[in-house]
Amino acid sequence: MSTFKYINNIEKNEKYYETTLQGKQLLNHSLLNKGTAFTQQEREDFFLLGKLPPVIETLTVQVERAYLQFKRYTVALSQYIYLTRLRDTNETLFYALVYTYLAEMMPILYTPIVGAAIQEFSHEFRTPRGLYLTRENQNTMSQMLQNRTHPEIEMIVVTDGEGVLGIGDQGLCAIDIPIAKLMVYTLFAGIHPGNTLPIVLDVGTNNKNLLDDPFYLGIKKSRLQGKEYFDFVDDFVAQIRHAFPKAFIHWEDFGSKNAAAILNKYATQCCTFNDDIQGTAVVASAAVIAAIEGQKLTWNSQKIIIFGAGAAGTGIAKLLTQCMHHSGLTKKEIAQRLVLIDKPGLLTTNTPDITPEQNHYLYPAELCESWQTDAQGGVELAEVVEQFKPSVLIGCSAVAGAFTQAIVKNMASSVARPIIMPLSNPTERAEATPAQLLSWTNNQAIVATGSPFAPVNIDGKIKDIPQCNNALVFPGIGLGCLVAKAELLTDEMLLAASRALANTAPMLNDLSAAVLPAFSQAREVSVDIALAVAQAWFVQAQLPKIDSKELKTTIEQRMWEPMQYIPIYKA
Ligand code: NAD
Repeated sequence: MSTFKYINNIEKNEKYYETTLQGKQLLNHSLLNKGTAFTQQEREDFFLLGKLPPVIETLTVQVERAYLQFKRYTVALSQYIYLTRLRDTNETLFYALVYTYLAEMMPILYTPIVGAAIQEFSHEFRTPRGLYLTRENQNTMSQMLQNRTHPEIEMIVVTDGEGVLGIGDQGLCAIDIPIAKLMVYTLFAGIHPGNTLPIVLDVGTNNKNLLDDPFYLGIKKSRLQGKEYFDFVDDFVAQIRHAFPKAFIHWEDFGSKNAAAILNKYATQCCTFNDDIQGTAVVASAAVIAAIEGQKLTWNSQKIIIFGAGAAGTGIAKLLTQCMHHSGLTKKEIAQRLVLIDKPGLLTTNTPDITPEQNHYLYPAELCESWQTDAQGGVELAEVVEQFKPSVLIGCSAVAGAFTQAIVKNMASSVARPIIMPLSNPTERAEATPAQLLSWTNNQAIVATGSPFAPVNIDGKIKDIPQCNNALVFPGIGLGCLVAKAELLTDEMLLAASRALANTAPMLNDLSAAVLPAFSQAREVSVDIALAVAQAWFVQAQLPKIDSKELKTTIEQRMWEPMQYIPIYKA
């Protein structure tokens, strides 16, 4: 299987590829192909003479040409397809191009356009990438893992496609999500693309449009459920742990019930991470930490409402609870300072049908006996804001417009700078827009959103709106686990990641600035997060701590970046 080896000799500061490939095979290998950048000597050594135009180009010139080609496409999906094809032929050029035009290309390759690409997957399919593990071939799963293209895998992103972005069940087509996430691991955390493996578990789909589509490329059966489903996942984890015992397993876009069950089961067995639950919690908590500490406030002056107590909401509640606990608040005090609201209204100790995840955050019923209730006996958001007087309001409900003018104005009447984070995606599902929040609070609201929003013009001054994007955290978390050879990813490590991200917030130095850094800083942010996560693991595992400066250098030297590596023939 192995046709190349990436050598990163840190002591000698040498990075190169050893390969057995020559001629056309070398040109066809997306990781080794340098195209017109192969030097004269390399052309002679690798039997490439005559197979390339004679001009020898630098990576910079190649990037300029690729950008011109990219710009010829005016439809976002066509741009996505162009970039995907480029990656299939020359990954160095692909990553160099994306680095150079990061702000322009991230929305094409990641959210939101990857969502459109997934919906068109079976129609636009050209070349396969990653592994498609199907329920029909469960007994050959180990063989399918052996069939992977690259031998040394350290980073796996897996989906079963049930809960993709805001577009629900996408079956096998969701493979584009692990591909996009792994691209972000490479871009922001320097994980070598040859050490990554995107996987879709094709357990069927309940999406009728897909089942009726003659071009649909997945298994045309309804989803596995219950024991059959969990047996399949169990088998998958066992095979992965056998084939790649040290790999980091990242779960993405599973249905929320299965996601929580999978995380609860495997988090104590191996180094595993659910981005929808834990990644969201880390980035959202970091924004809250930065907003509180930036204003030099304390946790015991905070009251937090999380509106929408599903996967994201309860994940954020868990991490914020730990922040409050670390600040010295007792369990009882925390219960009176952080509340959840879901469809029945405020979740209290009297609310029936509570999920196991919600169960930890129930407001004492005796404290809200006098609060106004709706016809079903629930306490709605407006009344909770009136009585509870929150300083932080986080939306994870996908209920568009839930943060009304009256609610926001009421909140702003009792706190100088309300922290309001409408995290719901896509854009049209946001609980409020940043422009509304700023205008209703006399520009005092501290805002971070789930979807990207255009900057807001405040009296001629342009204010950028920070996005609570998980891409700011998961690359650093994965990198930190790999560097530390962590056997588990614990809550303490997630909290360390959140604090590390909060420490990079522009708001800490300028009260009018954003509570989260921009993507352009993501690589440095990933290093900081990786360092914090690794150190937290050493503490938890009672391993000797490593000097932070030394560890930071190790992390930075490990990170791959697109450059023209020298190939060396090794038979
Ligand atoms: P989920 O389905 O697990 O949770 C949504 C919750 O909202 C459910 O518990 C649901 O009952 C509740 N809800 C629905 N209607 C409500 C109402 N009228 N009042 C109160 N609660 C109501 O989904 P999730 O994975 O938690 O995602 C929720 C939203 O957060 C989505 O829009 C998602 O795109 C967004 N999200 C954002 C980020 C981010 O910003 N980084 C990350 C993850 C999720």
